[in-house]
Amino acid sequence: MNDALICVSLCAGNIEQLKQQISAGEAYADAFEIRFDCLDQNAWNAVKDAVSSVSSKPVLATLRTEAQGGARAGVGKEDLAEFVRSADGKFWAVDVEDLDINGNSSLFISSFHDHARVPADLSATVRQLTNNDSAVIKIAVTAADATDAIPVFLMLADESLSSRRLIPIAMGDAGRWLRILGPAHGAFLTFASIDSADATAPGQVTAKDLTETYRVKKLSKATRVFGVLGDPISQSLSPYMHNPAFAAAGEDAVFISFLVKDIGRFMQRMVRRESREVELNFGGFSVTMPHKLSIMKHLDEIDDTAAAVGAVNTVEIDGDRLIGRNTDAEGFITPLKKRFGDLRGMRVAVCGAGGAARACLFSLKKEGADAEIFVRDVRKAERLAYEFGFVVRSIDELRRGVVDPKSVVFDILVDATPIGMGGAMDTEALLTADELKGVRFVYDLVTKAADTPIIREAKAAGIPAIGGIEMLLAQGARQFAIWTHQEAPVDLMRQSLLERIK
Ligand code: NAP
Repeated sequence: MNDALICVSLCAGNIEQLKQQISAGEAYADAFEIRFDCLDQNAWNAVKDAVSSVSSKPVLATLRTEAQGGARAGVGKEDLAEFVRSADGKFWAVDVEDLDINGNSSLFISSFHDHARVPADLSATVRQLTNNDSAVIKIAVTAADATDAIPVFLMLADESLSSRRLIPIAMGDAGRWLRILGPAHGAFLTFASIDSADATAPGQVTAKDLTETYRVKKLSKATRVFGVLGDPISQSLSPYMHNPAFAAAGEDAVFISFLVKDIGRFMQRMVRRESREVELNFGGFSVTMPHKLSIMKHLDEIDDTAAAVGAVNTVEIDGDRLIGRNTDAEGFITPLKKRFGDLRGMRVAVCGAGGAARACLFSLKKEGADAEIFVRDVRKAERLAYEFGFVVRSIDELRRGVVDPKSVVFDILVDATPIGMGGAMDTEALLTADELKGVRFVYDLVTKAADTPIIREAKAAGIPAIGGIEMLLAQGARQFAIWTHQEAPVDLMRQSLLERIK
């Protein structure tokens, strides 16, 4: 448990919108921040005078000038000074950035924002903010990698700041862990949005997710922290599967996504006892692209399955020992066995040669299926093909080879490439409906609510197809058992995932 506040930040153009946003956020907010630079300037005084009738919760008033990244053009430093003076006493708290004004009756939050990076000398910036008597200090920097948020997190343990309340923020996906774990380590508040489209800063989590998914106010320094490590990571559904499972099993644990660019740096600065700079009480990790192979050299032990697959998607932390495991192999094969039973002799095309493809090939070999690997660069996959004893061919050959609608060429086609997972990966399907004729069943590993490009093509060709949700669930259930030594509540995990996807 902790006593941090969830402060829902509001960017409304007029009073009506503001009231609607307040009523939408009321259920999960302990406080609201009104961003006055979003509001029509003619409404400023009315909101200031009527704030207690607009919200029953404490309200923080914030105005950002145009130079500070505020939403309203033409708002300058004089407007800000005038605003801060007139807001003092009318609001629970007032945000003051780059001004030497002290409050009389409101709580003054002395703030600093860097919308591009973490300043090289963050401690000098913090010292500057302590030059006035504001009770609260807020530092918001921009993180490109999870480790960038470390110096801001460390403010919470800085004894020279112990007389102030602190709001450390790292904006962006990479700083999300700090928004979720800051309260457990003494942060005064964490900002939240009403929904993801309404966020007033990059990386903000919704107040509903902070409360229901991450149970932020129940977290403490003793909470075991689990996370998925990857790049990109914002699309990950794993928090919506593991957090409800932890809650149902009564585990004091939380699951967070970490945007990790360099796995070695993450392990060194945040995980390994001998070199880490933060104490987050990690219990284990899920590992996703592109780190499933590169993480292996940073672990103390690799279990037999992960060694045979040649990829790690799960890390168990046992004392100081980091053990690499692989649950993708079991997760991948579970839906196929449910559907087809015996896979012996079945002809399977596996497209892609990354960490996920390795897990597929391992399981297909174990089940006695007859697989072929298809990639865009055959030379890159020759070693993989040799390891598993399967043939590797170019995807172009596959495109030419399955076009004969009269004969079934493959019983199953597995798309183990990231095509369709979002962002730059939302390109055209690996194979068109025409190119898929000759395939009996399509299995795309990408986990997504909407149909992925290849599933759309399969449907157009009348071929049954599934996405990666069942695999995600099966591999996640195994991870849960590894981390907690309890059986996973699979039905609950499925239900939470499906609700999220909706
Ligand atoms: P990875 O290690 O980065 O491997 C990706 C593979 O796809 C590489 O062989 C890559 O080839 C190939 N590829 C990428 N873009 C391609 C394109 N446009 N055309 C043809 N091939 C392309 O990734 P991974 O860890 O194997 O993950 C692959 C996908 O499976 C991801 O979307 C991941 O989310 C999904 N997955 C789902 C689950 C689940 O539980 N449902 C579990 C694991 C993975 P190059 O080497 O030539 O780039």
